[in-house]
Amino acid sequence: MASVTASPTDENTHTAHKRRVNELIFESLAAYPRDGEIAFFCECASETCFETVWLSLDDYETGRINPRWLVIRAGHRRQTAVGERRRPVPA
Ligand SMILES: [Zn+2]
Repeated sequence: MASVTASPTDENTHTAHKRRVNELIFESLAAYPRDGEIAFFCECASETCFETVWLSLDDYETGRINPRWLVIRAGHRRQTAVGERRRPVPA
């Protein structure tokens, strides 16, 4: 029997990839002294955005406690929230 796998929307994929990179940055630096700030990638929905957001490791770790928290540069758009209503497309 065939199974159907739901694929995430493109913008959710872009956010997920950048979020994973940020997690790797955090993990690679977690053992070092936590002074100063680190450049994390903006986790907005844009596939072409690779701008940085400077955060301390403590601030990043604190933010990640909330699973919905994203590193977003001021003025950039978050991904479409899961469960967010979309306007129906006329037939
Ligand atoms: Zn961005």
